[in-house]
Order: sequence, then C-alpha cells, then structure tokens
Amino acid sequence: MHELGITQNIVAIVTEHAQGSKVQRVVLEIGKLSAILPDAIQFCFDICTQNTVLAGATLEIIEIPGLARCCQCGAEIYLDKPFGICNCGSVELDLITGEELKIKEIEIEELCV
Ligand SMILES: [Zn+2]
Repeated sequence: MHELGITQNIVAIVTEHAQGSKVQRVVLEIGKLSAILPDAIQFCFDICTQNTVLAGATLEIIEIPGLARCCQCGAEIYLDKPFGICNCGSVELDLITGEELKIKEIEIEELCV
C-alpha cells in the first residue's frame, strides 16, 4: 500500500508548515490517473495524524479528472486510465491533467495572542 508512504510525506510537509500550530484542514488534489486511492489516503491520514499537530484535522480530497490532448488532431479527451485512443485513431496522447498529487490548502488554527 504505497498510500501510507505518500500520506506520511504529506503529514511531514504539513507539520513543517504548521510550525507547532494546530492544523484544522488539509485540502489535497489527487489526479484520477495517479493510481492513488483517495479512500486509502483518508484511511492512512487518520492513522498518521495521531499525536501530531494534524490530529483531528479534516482531510478534503479533490479528484482531478484525467485529460489528454491528441498529438495528431489536437482533440482533448477525458481519460480514466493513463492511456487511451482518440476518435481519430491515434494513441499518441499528451496528458494534461490527472497525474497530480499536491497539497492545495492548509488551514492552521489562528493563535490568540
Ligand atoms: Zn486525435
């Protein structure tokens, strides 16, 4: 399950960013072609965040659909897999979106001074 390693990375990055403040919400963008399962990330997140500044934080996952452009005719095609075939018969596709994994937003609790 490579989601565990990915989640540990995310937790490490967010922890560093938070600098000791409590994190309330993390928004992730996960491409549908990235072979990362959002459910698995959610599951690992709940485990990895125990006893960290992320404990109890909400994890929001935005799934980015796979989009590619045909190298032959320039048509844009939505993909469920990282490969496909265009209406023109070409299999030469340039992936535009769908492979991303990024932290889009980190919401940190405001400290009252
Ligand atoms: Zn085409």
